[in-house]
Amino acid sequence: DLELKIGLFGAGAVGKSSIAIRFVEDKFIEEYDPTIEEEFRKEIDFNNKKILLRILDTAGCQEYWPYIENLARGYELFIYVYSITDRNSYKEIFHYYNSIKKYKSENHPKVLIGNKSDLTMKRAISIEEGKELANKLNCKFIETSAKNGENINQLFYEIISFKIPN
Ligand code: GDP
Ligand code: MG
Repeated sequence: DLELKIGLFGAGAVGKSSIAIRFVEDKFIEEYDPTIEEEFRKEIDFNNKKILLRILDTAGCQEYWPYIENLARGYELFIYVYSITDRNSYKEIFHYYNSIKKYKSENHPKVLIGNKSDLTMKRAISIEEGKELANKLNCKFIETSAKNGENINQLFYEIISFKIPN
C-alpha cells in the first residue's frame, strides 16, 4: 500500500487536533488535551488506489520549533493552520513555514488553512488576507471548520492530490 505522511503545523488552539479528529473519526471534541502529539492513521480510497494516511498532529509551541524542524524531515505533505479568530496565529504561520523550508525546498507541497470558519462573529482575518498569505507561500487557501466539518475532506483531498495526480 501507498503511504503518505502529512503534518499539521500552526499555533496552539487553532484546531490542528480537531481537524485531524474530524477527518479520521468524524467527530468534534470541545476540549482536547493541547499537549497531546499523536499520529492518526486512516486508510482511504483515492482514485481507486488504497492509501494509508499518517497524519501527524503536532503540539505547536515556540519552544518546540527546533523539534518541528526535525519532525518536518520525515514528512512530505504540509498543512499550515491558523484560526480566522486569531491574528497572532495568522502571523505565526511564517515561523512554521520558515523552519520547515530549511529542510524542505520552498516548494514543499502545502495548503494554507483558515480554521474555525463557523465563528463568523469572531472573525479577525478576512478571506482576502488568507488568500494573500497563500500567495506568499505559493499554495492553495481553504477555510475549514472542524466543528461543522466544512471543507475538511476537501482539505485532505487537495493535499493528497500533490502525490496522487488525477
Ligand atoms: P490545537 O491546539 O491546534 O490542536 O487546537 P484544538 O484542536 O485543541 O482546538 C482548540 C480549541 O478550539 C478547542 O476548544 C476546540 O474545540 C476549538 N475548535 C477547533 N476547531 C474549531 C472550529 O472549527 N470551530 C470552533 N468553533 N471551534 C474549534
Ligand atoms: Mg492539539
